[in-house]
Amino acid sequence: MNKLFAFLLVSAFLIASCTTTKPTTVTPMETRELDDLVVKAKKIEQKPENIKVPVYHGTRTLDNDLIHTKLDVRFDIPAQELMGKATLTLKPVFYPVSNLILDAKYFTFTQVRLNGPNGPSLKYDYDNTQINIQLEKHYSRKDQYKIYLEYTAHPTQGPKGGSAAIQSDQGLYFIDPNETDPEKPTQIWTQGETESNSKWCPTIDTPNERATHEIAITIADKYETLSNGRLERSVKNTDGTRTDYWNMDMPAAPYLMMMAIGDYAVVRDTWKGKPIAYYVEHEYKDYATDIFPYTKELLTFYSDMLGVPYPWQKYDQVVVRDYVSGAMENTTAVIFQEFMNGTKRELMDQPRNELIVAHEMFHHWFGDYVTCESWANTTLNEGFANYAEYLWLEHKHGKDEADQHLEDELMGYIDNRPYHPLIDYHYGNREDMFDGHSYNKGGCTLHMLRNLVGDEAFFASLNRYLTANALSAVELAELRMAFEDELGTDMHWFFDQWYGHAGHPELEVIHSYDATTQKLTVTIEQTQKGDNIPEVYLLPLKVDIYNNKGKPTRHTIEMTARKQSFTIASNFDPVVVELDPEGTLVGTIEYLDRSDLAWQELYHFMPSYRSRVHAVQHLMIPLREKGKLKEFAKALIKDPYHGIRETGLFALEGEQLDVATLATIEKIAKTDSSTKARANALKTLAETGDQKYVPLVKTILADDSLAYTVTGAALSAISQLAPDQAAAAIKPLENIQNQSILSSIGEIYVNDPSPSHLAFFEKNLTKIKGFEAVDFFGNYVVTVLKVEPNNLGEAFERLKNISTDMTQIPERRFASAKILAEFRSQAGDHPLSAIVTEYLKEIREKETLKELQSIYQQMF
Ligand SMILES: [Zn+2]
Repeated sequence: MNKLFAFLLVSAFLIASCTTTKPTTVTPMETRELDDLVVKAKKIEQKPENIKVPVYHGTRTLDNDLIHTKLDVRFDIPAQELMGKATLTLKPVFYPVSNLILDAKYFTFTQVRLNGPNGPSLKYDYDNTQINIQLEKHYSRKDQYKIYLEYTAHPTQGPKGGSAAIQSDQGLYFIDPNETDPEKPTQIWTQGETESNSKWCPTIDTPNERATHEIAITIADKYETLSNGRLERSVKNTDGTRTDYWNMDMPAAPYLMMMAIGDYAVVRDTWKGKPIAYYVEHEYKDYATDIFPYTKELLTFYSDMLGVPYPWQKYDQVVVRDYVSGAMENTTAVIFQEFMNGTKRELMDQPRNELIVAHEMFHHWFGDYVTCESWANTTLNEGFANYAEYLWLEHKHGKDEADQHLEDELMGYIDNRPYHPLIDYHYGNREDMFDGHSYNKGGCTLHMLRNLVGDEAFFASLNRYLTANALSAVELAELRMAFEDELGTDMHWFFDQWYGHAGHPELEVIHSYDATTQKLTVTIEQTQKGDNIPEVYLLPLKVDIYNNKGKPTRHTIEMTARKQSFTIASNFDPVVVELDPEGTLVGTIEYLDRSDLAWQELYHFMPSYRSRVHAVQHLMIPLREKGKLKEFAKALIKDPYHGIRETGLFALEGEQLDVATLATIEKIAKTDSSTKARANALKTLAETGDQKYVPLVKTILADDSLAYTVTGAALSAISQLAPDQAAAAIKPLENIQNQSILSSIGEIYVNDPSPSHLAFFEKNLTKIKGFEAVDFFGNYVVTVLKVEPNNLGEAFERLKNISTDMTQIPERRFASAKILAEFRSQAGDHPLSAIVTEYLKEIREKETLKELQSIYQQMF
C-alpha cells in the first residue's frame, strides 16, 4: 500500500561522498549526569483496582486454516452487488474443531453446505460481519473439509471506515455504475487491505492466513478483467458475457486478493519469461511504459539485490478511477490511483511514478512473499517498501537524489506526532498503523541498520530472512534473528530501542579545543523525552573533524549515556565538527555553538547531501538578513545536486546579477537535468529584460519534446521579453491541459483582459491541477473583475464549490480557499464580503483532510 502522497511535500536536497581518512579510535570520557536519568513515576489517575492490562492487538488466533478458495462471481452493477459461489477448502490448525467462523461483511446467504452445491445444508449464525457455521462432526488436524456458500455481497452497506492511507474499507467498488457520468468509465475494482476483502469474499480475513485461490469472473464481454495469478482461460457465453478463469496457485494472504474490471487497453510484455501487462485507459495506450516506468529494470534490480528472483507467476499493473489510496500491492496485480496517468511529456514533471512502481513491486518480497502476521507489525511490510524507494533512487539517480528522499521521509516521520513504537501492539485502530512511523521511520531505520552492519551484511541478512520465511507470516523477531544468525552477533539492543520504543534521539552538540594538550572535546547530550521514549539511546556514531582546508578526519564513537564527552587527539583546531556525517541517524542533531561562518565553511567543503542541505537551511534567513545571501546563492547554483541549484536560483530572484552568474544561469536554462531548475533559470533570465535571451527562449518553445514546466516557463519568458510574440507562442499550446502551460497562459491573459480570455479561464477552471491552481484561480478572479464585474459573486461561488467538494484534489481545494481568504482580508466592506465569510466557514466545516484543516485554521 502506498500512502497518498503527502499534500505538502517539503522539497529538500543533497550529496557527493566526502573524502575521509581512516577512522581513528577515540576514548570516551563519560560524564554521566545522574539527575537527567531519574525516572519519574507516571501519574496514575485510576484507582489501583480498576487498572487493566492495556488493549493488546496480537496476532489473530487461527482455529481453522484456509487452504484454497474457489470463487465464481457475477455482478449487478447498477445495484452495486456481487453474486458469489464460494467453495472453501479448510483444515483445523491444531485442535479439533466442530465449527467454522468466516469473515463475511454484509452478505445475504442463500446456501451454506458441506462439500458442494449438492452437499448437506449446514446450520449457521450470522451477525452481518461473521458467519459461524456448525460442522456436522468434529474434524481433527489430519482432516480437510469443504464448505460451499452461495451469497450476495452488499459492499455499500455497513459502517464506513478507513485511514489517511486507505480512505475507505468498502472492499468492492463500482465506478459510475449507472453510466451517468460522461467523464468516467464504468469500472469495478477491489481494495482488500486491511481486512476488506471479506466485503465480497467469505474468508479468514487476517494477514497471518495464507491460501491459494481461483476466481471465475463473469462480465459483459466488452470489459477486460484482472486478478491474481494466471488467466487460465476465457469462455464466451451465449448471453453476451464472458467468463475469465484466474488461478493463483501460490498461497498469499487474503488481503492481497484482487479483481479489476473495466474498458482497458492492455499492453503486454515479458520479463525473463514471465508475462507482464499494463492496464491503462485507451488514451494512454502509447504511454504505458511512461506511466509504469522502469518496470522490467526494477524487477531485475530487486531480484539481483536480494538474491531472491521475483517469485510470482506474472507482474501486472492497472490504473483505476477514484481509487481510495495511492497504490496497492495485490500479489501480481498492483492497483494504482489515476494520478499516475499522463503523456510522456506530462510525466517528465512527475518523477514520483517510478517511486510508486518501485514501492509496490518491493512489496512482492516484503509484504506478499513474507507477510507481517499482524497489523502491529505493519512496518515489516511498509518500512521495506518505503526503503525500496531509496534503494532505487540511489541505484538509478545517485546518492544525492536518494538522500533528499531520505531527508523528506525523516521529516515526514518527525512531524507525525504522537510517537508510538514502530512495532505497536497497543494501537487504537489497525488503520492508524499506516502512518509516518510504519512507512517513514521504518524505511529510515532500515537505512540506519544497513549503514551499521554494512551493505554485504545487510543484503545477506535480508536474503536469509526472505528464504527462511518464504510464503509465511512474520513478526519482528524473525527479522532480528535473520540478522543475528547471518552475522553471528546479538542485535537485540538495536531492534529493541528502534522498533520496540517510541521516538528518536534528539542530540545537542558542543565542542572545545585545547591547543596545549592538542585535544578536542566533543560533548553530546540526548534531550529526547516522552512516553515510551528511551532516555538513553545506545548510539554508535561517526564524527568528521575538518581542518581549514576542508579535509575531514573521521572518528568513531559510541554514546552510552544521556550526556557524554569524548576526547579526540587533534593537532589542529577544527573548523567544523560534524556528527553523523553521512546522515544516517534517525533523529535530530543541533550544534549549539556552530557559527554561521562555520556553517558556510561546511557547505563549501562539499560534504554529504544531508550536511550540505542542513547548512543551506540554516543559512538562508541569517544571510538574507545580513544582505549576504546573494554571494552564497551564487555558489548554490553550481551545486552538483539539482535541488540545491533550485534553491540557489530561488534565492537569486530579483537580484542584480553579474555576467558570470548570468552565464551559469543560462547554462542551467539550456541543459540542466532538472526541469524545475531549467524553468527557474528561464524565469531569472526573463527578469533581466535582456533581448539577447529571446532566441534561446524561442528555441525552447519550438522543442516539443521538453517537459511542460520548461515550456511553460519559456512562454512566460517570451511574454516578458517580447510581448508582441506571446500570442503566436500561445497558439499551439492553448489546448494543452497541463498545469504549467495553463498557469503560464493565465499569467499572460490576466494582463490582457478580454471576453475570450475570460472564456479561457472558465473553460480550464476544472482542468488546472497542482499548486499552480492558486495563481490560476487568482488570475481568473482578477479577469472577472476587469471584464464582467457583475459576475464576481458567481466566480466566488464556483471557487467555494471546488473547496467544499472532497472529491477534488487537495491542492485545488486549498487554492480556491486561499483566493477567497485573500479577497476577504482585502475586501473591507465590499458587498460580497459577508457571503465570502460564510463560504469560508462552510469550507472549514466541510474539509476532511487534517493537513488542510490546520492550514485553514491559521489562514482564516
Ligand atoms: Zn506500501
